[in-house]
Parts: sequence; C-alpha cells; structure tokens
Amino acid sequence: MAEIAARLAERWPDAVVELDHQNAYQLLVATILAAQSTDKLINTVTPALFARYPDPRALAAAEPSELEAMIFSTGFYRMKAKHLIGMARAVTERHGGVVPDTMEALVELPGVARKTANVVLGSAFSKNEGVVVDTHVSRLAPRLGLTRQSDPAGIEQDLMRLVPRDQWSIFAHRLIWHGRRVCHARKPDCEHCTLAPLCPSAGLDAHAAGKTAAPTRAERAAAAKAKAAPSARKPGPASPAPSARKPGPASPAPSARKPGPASPAPSARKPGPASPAPSARKPRPAKAAPARAGRREPRA
Ligand code: SF4
Repeated sequence: MAEIAARLAERWPDAVVELDHQNAYQLLVATILAAQSTDKLINTVTPALFARYPDPRALAAAEPSELEAMIFSTGFYRMKAKHLIGMARAVTERHGGVVPDTMEALVELPGVARKTANVVLGSAFSKNEGVVVDTHVSRLAPRLGLTRQSDPAGIEQDLMRLVPRDQWSIFAHRLIWHGRRVCHARKPDCEHCTLAPLCPSAGLDAHAAGKTAAPTRAERAAAAKAKAAPSARKPGPASPAPSARKPGPASPAPSARKPGPASPAPSARKPGPASPAPSARKPRPAKAAPARAGRREPRA
C-alpha cells in the first residue's frame, strides 16, 4: 500500500478535484451536478450557474424551470434541480447560508451522500473524514488488490484501513487521476503504468481484471448517445415494415389455409368414397361430426 501510494504521489503530485470552483458552495453544487455526467461537461455549465445563483440563498429561491434549463445538458436535470434547490434551502434554513463542514450535517442535505460529502470535506475544508469512492476508485481498488468489496461503502472502509488518514483525500484524487489517464475501464494501459510491478491485474484484460471494470461516466454517456436514435433504426431500409411481412406472398392468408384445396370439406370427408361402411365406424363419426361443424362455423 505504501509503495502504491508513493508511486501515485510521484506520478500525480498535483492531483486535485477537477470540478472548477471557488468555494465550498460551488464545489457542492458542481459535485451534485456531476452525478452521471463528466467533470468536463459540468465545468461548461457552472460558470453561468454560479453567476445566476452566487450563493445558497439565491439558489434556494430559484425557479425550478429556469434552473432545469440551465443544467439540462448534465442529464437527470429534473432530479438534480430538485436536489440543488432542496440543498440550498436546507443550507439557508439550517446553517445560516453557510455550507456545513461536518459529515453528519452534509449527508443530511438533499442530494448529498458520502461521496459528495467526502469531496467537499477534503477539497473545500481540507478535512479527511473518509475516502472518495467514485467509479474510478471502485474500479482501481479491486484491480490493485486493495479490496474485495464491490459496494462503495465497503471499498471506502477497506481503503480507510489501508491508507493513513492524512492521505485519504489526496490518495483518492490520485487514484481517480490514474483511472482517468492510465487504468481505463476497458483498456487499462498496463504497459505504461507505474503501478504495474505491484498490480495483480497487470496485463490482464479489463474483464479478467475484475467485474468492477464498469464503463466510466464518459463511456456511459457515449453509449447512451449511440442508442439515442432507436426510431431511426426500426423503420430503416433493412427492416421490412411489419405490415409487409404478415400478409406477404410467402404467408398464405388464414382464410386461404383452412378451407383450401388440401383440406377437404367436413361434409366431404365423412360420407366420402374412401371411408368404410357406416356400420363399421359408427361410434367415431357420430361423436366427431357435431364438434367439427361447431368449430368451423365461425371461420367460414
Ligand atoms: S497495471 Fe494495469 S490494471 Fe494495474 S493499475 Fe496499472 S493500468 Fe491498472
């Protein structure tokens, strides 16, 4: 663990949270917005947002529809707008408009769980209350053999045991930087990785490196975009229209099948020339006749 931390420190000495912010309020807003999105995208949205809502009081009084329009591109904009306004109201009413600096108070705010609280505490207040476990940490920690847990809470507990407390925040940021730049979800660049001599997953493909090799937010966003036009695929040229398939030439109409030439009329079968004398088959035709006639009637 010490060697991994030392190599990460050497490789990423200046790792910091990559969400642009000037204070705890801005970092809290940006971190809530960053769920299911990318820091890069959030950084394009927040300048206008912070200009329009410079503090929790202004955000608490925001018109939801106006806020939704401003954050639309970040995804889940309705839920995020609700969380942002709820968070701002709670900060205004419970904490006098000042973002609290304790884990207990932060996780009570709408839209804030441990990960967001750890980001704010570590980067805005320089407090090591826990380890940020995002998608990258969730992927790299098992790959490096630092945990066997798969849920963020379990991973965080394992890392808190392994990493000295005064490094919790910076260690997480270095791991996140390493995940973004080297240990990618699908194609980890083990060949150029400073951790390769220490890593039990070095040289393995993403699948073998562990089931936690989930796609990143950026990859999920790209996949979502690729799926974004299902309507264009269905009626496309390669796909025959449903109406053309059913009554098509290869498929005889139902009405043509039953009374068709291969199927003798019920009345023609029983008294037909090939049937034995009525006396020999009395029990059968006597029972079958009414039932058949009854079934065929509606079809005709
Ligand atoms: S050696 Fe490969 S799997 Fe291990 S941390 Fe480096 S890039 Fe990731």
